[in-house]
Amino acid sequence: MMKQRTQHLGVGVRIGIGFVVVLALMVTLSAIGLRYVAEANHRLKDIAQNNNVKTELATVMHSALRERALSMHTLPILTDPFEKDLEIQRFNAQGAIYIQARDRFERLPLNPKENQTLARIRKLTVEANPMVQAVVEMAVFTDNQTETFDRIRSVAMPRQRAISDQVSALLDLQREQTAAAVRNAEISYARVRNLMLGLGTAALLVGMTIGGFVSRRATRQARQLAAQAMYDPLTGLANRSLLHDRLEHEIERSRRARTSFGVVLMDLDRFKEVNDTLGHDVGDELLREVGRRLKETVRAQDTVARLGGDEYVVLVHGLTPDGVPAISNKLLAALDKPFHWQNQSIDIGASLGVSLYPSQCSDASGLLRCADIAMYVAKRSGKGYAVYAPEQAHTSRSDLSLKSELREAIQSDQLSLHYQPQIDHRSRCVIGVEALVRWNHPQRGFLAPDQFIPLAEDAGLIGPLTHWVLRTALKQLKALHRQGHALTMAVNLSARNLHDMELPASILALLAESGVAPKNLILEITESAVMANPSDGLTILTELDRMGVTLAIDDFGTGYSSLAYLKRLPVDELKIDKSFVTDMEENDNDAVIVRSTIDLAHNLGLKVTAEGVETQAAWDTLEILGCDCSQGYFMGRPMPADKLGAWLQESAWSRVGALDVC
Ligand code: C2E
Ligand code: MG
Ligand code: MG
Repeated sequence: MMKQRTQHLGVGVRIGIGFVVVLALMVTLSAIGLRYVAEANHRLKDIAQNNNVKTELATVMHSALRERALSMHTLPILTDPFEKDLEIQRFNAQGAIYIQARDRFERLPLNPKENQTLARIRKLTVEANPMVQAVVEMAVFTDNQTETFDRIRSVAMPRQRAISDQVSALLDLQREQTAAAVRNAEISYARVRNLMLGLGTAALLVGMTIGGFVSRRATRQARQLAAQAMYDPLTGLANRSLLHDRLEHEIERSRRARTSFGVVLMDLDRFKEVNDTLGHDVGDELLREVGRRLKETVRAQDTVARLGGDEYVVLVHGLTPDGVPAISNKLLAALDKPFHWQNQSIDIGASLGVSLYPSQCSDASGLLRCADIAMYVAKRSGKGYAVYAPEQAHTSRSDLSLKSELREAIQSDQLSLHYQPQIDHRSRCVIGVEALVRWNHPQRGFLAPDQFIPLAEDAGLIGPLTHWVLRTALKQLKALHRQGHALTMAVNLSARNLHDMELPASILALLAESGVAPKNLILEITESAVMANPSDGLTILTELDRMGVTLAIDDFGTGYSSLAYLKRLPVDELKIDKSFVTDMEENDNDAVIVRSTIDLAHNLGLKVTAEGVETQAAWDTLEILGCDCSQGYFMGRPMPADKLGAWLQESAWSRVGALDVC
């Protein structure tokens, strides 16, 4: 969640930066453009303010020169003194206009070329002025027209023309400069246009890139969100919400077509142990592999979903009550093949609960609830799968309330121990007892360990429960010792106890507290409990062995039977599972197993105890086979402490005060 938020923030920041870049680009673009436009404007203003004024002044100078030339030519022809006077005034006025224009020109900001031309004009004017004045005076005062014209043509006019040429040059200069300024302005405008175009295109490209990036990112995120919302990220299977969706569709379709379908809810049996022992990576890989196997097992139109943890659901299209065994067994078989990880094979079973539409439940949540209840029943019965039946609802729900009551039960002494005698074959005398826990539930009466030990494991209460059992059993053993019964006490450990690295220390403390010698305490661990957590299990068992506690493998023959591994365990004793012993008389296979287990144990230097001895015949057979010790209803049932006292007094298997005989 946190990661996702940071990711979104990152994208937001990047998009923000992108927009800032575009914005900055646009602002720069406008600023540069405006600067160029201002420059161009300035240049045009220069043209308007200076060149135009100069051109005008040069034109005025030029026409004044022309007017003066005209007056010079007119004066000799005029005879009327009055007219002559007028013409002289006009001649002088033009001279004044010329001078005025030239002076104004000179006051304007000038470039070197203009300065040079004006200097030439001034020089020519100064040179020409006395001669022109002399010619004009001659034209006024003499009547010799021919000579006057001669002087005009030969003296005044060339001078005037020279000045006029320079003024024309000045005019041309202005024209050239105006053309150059216009050209410059045009170049400036073109430059601005190109720059604006370039920057605009760049901004557009950046904008488009950002837009593309944003839209790509948004699409990808939308897709990711949709996938997250619908699929389990670990296995890629449908998640709970997609499953609900599919269930709703399936209900709708089946209602219209009047067909049925099934919901199979599955919970892995030993997943927690694998996860705790081999680590989450292996756990995750296992969950993925389970998903793959389930998908391979069902048809394409069926939905496989993972609800979280080690819970999977398969929506089986068109499933009828008759089809349940086949699909359940197929699914169980798919998970029956061991999973391999680093040369190690991991066995992981599953329990399935099946609910059917429309015969059992008619809505999506109901179907899942019913399948969950049935799964619980399957788990407890150990039969692999169970189909929902209304009467199960009560049992499973009560399991949930049991879980919460168990904690209270441990604290308020609702638990008690029953003790079952263990008889030595050679002496036919009781040599020890096994402590078996019972729960005296206020409403439900005595509950057997199978009914609440799995709940204690599930609820994380196995630690306190084992502690209570050990403490009570050791106290009882001490009391028995005080009464003169030299017995050992066997206590059962659960698989989960082998995850608790503090266990040896707490057992040591309990032994010290009770004053019982470690060798008189036998700890029973099932094979599968050790195999579920081989590394920690071995460490804990080694530590317990070092402390001098006796260790026994319980229910031998039902688990992994890895002899190679067994040899490495520091155990002292094997307990043959009662299922082989009780059927031994009728079933030859079981008899063979019992015989070979006894031989095997002896070869490994281990003591053998047989459980479930219910008949004299079984007792006799075991004796012939060389079994060291037996436990069973034939000799004594598990019994509370006070009854054990009486049994020890009266039983043929026990001779009080004759400990040396036993
Ligand atoms: P287990 O350790 O194998 O204990 C022997 C079980 O076999 C006991 O069942 C006992 O009553 C039963 N049994 C004894 N003799 C005979 C017989 O002749 N015939 C038959 N059919 N059964 C016989 P119980 O007391 O119901 O205990 C069941 C299992 O619960 C135990 O199997 C043990 O694994 C577990 N358990 C019992 N007490 C504790 C405990 O304090 N802690 C833990 N972790 N597990 C316990
Ligand atoms: Mg046992
Ligand atoms: Mg057993």
